[in-house]
Amino acid sequence: MAAATGPVAAPAAAVTAADAVPHQQPQEQGQQPQHERVVLPEAVYPTFVPRNPGILDGQWNARDEVMVRRALRDAAEVVAQKSQSERGSITILGSELTELEDLAERYGQPRFRAKQLLEGVLKGAHSVEEITAIPKSWRAQLLADGVRSGRSRLHHSVGDEDGTRKFLLQLHDGRIVETVGIPTEDRLTVCVSSQVGCPMRCTFCATGKGGFARNLAPHEILDQVLTVQEQLGRRVSNVVFMGMGEPLLNLPAVVRAYQGLNQQVGIGGAFITISTVGVPNAIPRLAASSLKATLAVSLHAPNQALRERLIPSAKAYPLEALIQDCVTYYRITGRRVTFEYTLLSGVNDELEHARELTALLRRHDLMSHVNIIPWNPVDESEFVRPSRNRVFAFRRAVEAAGLACTVRETRGLEAAAACGQLRNRFQKQPLPDFQEPM
Ligand code: SF4
Repeated sequence: MAAATGPVAAPAAAVTAADAVPHQQPQEQGQQPQHERVVLPEAVYPTFVPRNPGILDGQWNARDEVMVRRALRDAAEVVAQKSQSERGSITILGSELTELEDLAERYGQPRFRAKQLLEGVLKGAHSVEEITAIPKSWRAQLLADGVRSGRSRLHHSVGDEDGTRKFLLQLHDGRIVETVGIPTEDRLTVCVSSQVGCPMRCTFCATGKGGFARNLAPHEILDQVLTVQEQLGRRVSNVVFMGMGEPLLNLPAVVRAYQGLNQQVGIGGAFITISTVGVPNAIPRLAASSLKATLAVSLHAPNQALRERLIPSAKAYPLEALIQDCVTYYRITGRRVTFEYTLLSGVNDELEHARELTALLRRHDLMSHVNIIPWNPVDESEFVRPSRNRVFAFRRAVEAAGLACTVRETRGLEAAAACGQLRNRFQKQPLPDFQEPM
């Protein structure tokens, strides 16, 4: 879920301060990208968020429930097809080694060729043709049979002087998803999307306003990490599922992508964070998956009424039930839960809210950490960013109650393009009206 990055954006005028680079060719591994500065003409990149006419504001409703059920069913189907695309052709990225070994055997090739296939893609091959470690004749056969690397087309990127870079990837069906690379001296974090759009409709999120199209397949999640690695010329150390979409609506693909990140890309499980606004029954399922990832729950409010106002889907998953599931998660995994709290001026940033929040968390038997995210506005938003003083007063109140608390640093790029908002600028049409299949 994108709540942690969702509430970040600014009017299009801010984008002119960033640089935008259309991409035709992938960057060579280890090579720093050239940051050509291009000012975006606002006429070309409108600031409005394309709205799906079927997405209604206001209370969580039966139509929302239909979309969520459809997303959950779609998620199961995506992984039931294993590493196959909609048309049944295999993608190398997102496949397990044993599946590729079976593939090699079906073509009469030795099983070790599977490792060459996978390593070829992990090291930067964007098509089977580029995997020169395998025989040319087999490459031709695989291509003819529709076997694909699983890499997407890099459509566009926007960068900031602090090194943060946001990428738009165009998927095989033409859809566009966002991913963000956030480098610091000692780490490179990638914020990945898990869905095209999102059905959760959080009020502060650009993605939530645009509707929902489909879940991402495991290879489409892994591809985002490889893209950032290539483009920034550095090894990715951390991955956060905080881009577009609610990861727990697409749990099978997220778990599989986690395994690929961990076992194939080499990112430690403890360096992967899965963020959620909460989906009924999903947190216990995540706990049962035995991942070493950190669970980050986007709380944003200390009571049910306020939470429902900010996150309409909270109506279907009361706060007490959510916290109880976090307790279960902690009991099963032994791992601390992070609670994300986006501070919205005059809405949830009073000291009374801080007291209510700490009382809520202390009342339950779980180890928790509060991560405060000062709000950055998105277009069409009613919310306002709180002052620095209010942010730190809130933090002091949480810490005074004995809870671990951090304030998330706002990176420069966040002031230029929010979660979902850059995508919206390029995906100029709203996502299609979502129909429940017969
Ligand atoms: S609408 Fe979806 S993407 Fe946006 S914050 Fe909510 S769960 Fe995350």
